Amino acid sequence: MTDIKNEYPLVIIGAGPAGLTASIYASRYKIENLIIGQAVGGLVFEAHKICNFSSEKEITGRELTKKMQDHAELLSDPILMDKVVHINREANGFKISTEFGKEILAKTLLLAVGTEHRKLNLPDENKFLGKGISYCATCDAMFYQDKTVAVIGGSDSAHTASLYLSEMAKHVYQIYRRNKMRGETAWVEQLLKNKKIEIVYNTQVIELEGKDKLEKIILDNPHNGQKEIMVDGLFVEIGTIPRTNLAKELSVDLNGFEYIKVETDQSTNQKGIWAAGDITTNSNGLRQIITASSEGAVAAESIFKYLQTLK
Ligand code: NAP
Repeated sequence: MTDIKNEYPLVIIGAGPAGLTASIYASRYKIENLIIGQAVGGLVFEAHKICNFSSEKEITGRELTKKMQDHAELLSDPILMDKVVHINREANGFKISTEFGKEILAKTLLLAVGTEHRKLNLPDENKFLGKGISYCATCDAMFYQDKTVAVIGGSDSAHTASLYLSEMAKHVYQIYRRNKMRGETAWVEQLLKNKKIEIVYNTQVIELEGKDKLEKIILDNPHNGQKEIMVDGLFVEIGTIPRTNLAKELSVDLNGFEYIKVETDQSTNQKGIWAAGDITTNSNGLRQIITASSEGAVAAESIFKYLQTLK
């Protein structure tokens, strides 16, 4: 196995599609690069079925992640599985410190750390985590064979979770706060004709109840009032929030929703720092695997041009 060096022209933080694609492009520009990440694939790894990534008619998140990782690692050093805890600006770049005590110097940085699951922020949400509450249908659906489950949300993550759960569970409620689903039409069509899925519109989950594990949820509909339903599991699929601690530490500009503001070449307001993937304001907010990958490619080319100017 190749040893990790102490210094790189480019360090990519984040091992999702944006980081992996940036690494592939950077390697082909002959920029020595290192990816540091905690979870290869990021949220893509959790997807049970991906049908909109060109050239892949249908593929699991795990399979697509493996392909991207193999491709990136074929061309550069292995991914450093570690967490970046601190970044210091130095005279000629940055000093990156990791949780496992590594210190690596980088001339340029690409922030591709993505987003994490949004929580409901209800009392007892943490108490029932792993005891009925889940943020990952692909990981946990198998525990709900012939059981009754609910999914919260009205976009693609919720749709794909409900469809996957319907293959195993006895009954799936999909609870959405508005009256018309959004997301990809192909998923919505499948959802609406699935006999096992019952859509509950205009409704919020306001309370979680159970003794040692989740047993029931209390729903609120502004027109019809409150009611409770018995469930064995609740899948919270209400979107994601950007991971911004490193960007803030480096005084990188964020928008009002805490996404990193980037130019068309993925550069940020801070010299030497680029950002790509779900964490940025680019790609019209579409936040897909293909757009994250595309931002990674654009960033790598822009970094290549910048490094040329330092020679
Ligand atoms: P999203 O598109 O941001 O949707 C979040 C959903 O949760 C919305 O329906 C939202 O309601 C609802 N929501 C947000 N906060 C809530 C709260 N506190 N209580 C109740 N409901 C709440 O997030 P996502 O579905 O995770 O998708 C994220 C991105 O990944 C999107 O770009 C999506 O297309 C992509 N994705 C794609 C696929 C695919 O196979 N193509 C699969 C998964 C994800 P409102 O509608 O009222 O805002």
